[in-house]
Amino acid sequence: MAGRILKGGCFCGETTYTINVPETLPLLEGTTNHSPTCVIDHCNTCRRTSGSFFHAWIIVPEPWITIISHPKEGEDSKLVRFESSPHVRRSFCGRCGTHLFYEKEDRWAKISGIEEKVHLVDATIGSLDEESLAQVDLVKPSMHTWRKDGISWVKDMFDSEDGKESFGGLRKHDAGGW
Ligand SMILES: [Zn+2]
Repeated sequence: MAGRILKGGCFCGETTYTINVPETLPLLEGTTNHSPTCVIDHCNTCRRTSGSFFHAWIIVPEPWITIISHPKEGEDSKLVRFESSPHVRRSFCGRCGTHLFYEKEDRWAKISGIEEKVHLVDATIGSLDEESLAQVDLVKPSMHTWRKDGISWVKDMFDSEDGKESFGGLRKHDAGGW
């Protein structure tokens, strides 16, 4: 069955990626969420590594994502991975600095339609191409995570009447539990 392809990459184009989303969005078993799940993550590590208020992530089963490096002739891939906390790896482009991926070693999920448990990978929503960002039903966050760590006036902004209207009153989680 035909699905949809989301495309993204770093600012300089050294690393690009595609996310192949099946036509029927599978359910993450044990939750009420369909995959892909999109979140606004307020945790301190996301704030620091983004250099902004929060990271916004699209969380997908690893088999859906293809990461491609386009190194200059004679150079290696510039994708830099580092351990931001035990068993957590974040990746960014070593040339232009765009943050791209988050992987947690022990984060596996069962999704409908795939027999084996799958590893989940997060990609930064902001690194998606404009055409992919326009696919609102796939890429618009549905919840806040680690809200307890969030900057108070940023949370106030989301809670304001304007914020509620434009973001549709996203679900709130004090920690990562979704
Ligand atoms: Zn780059």
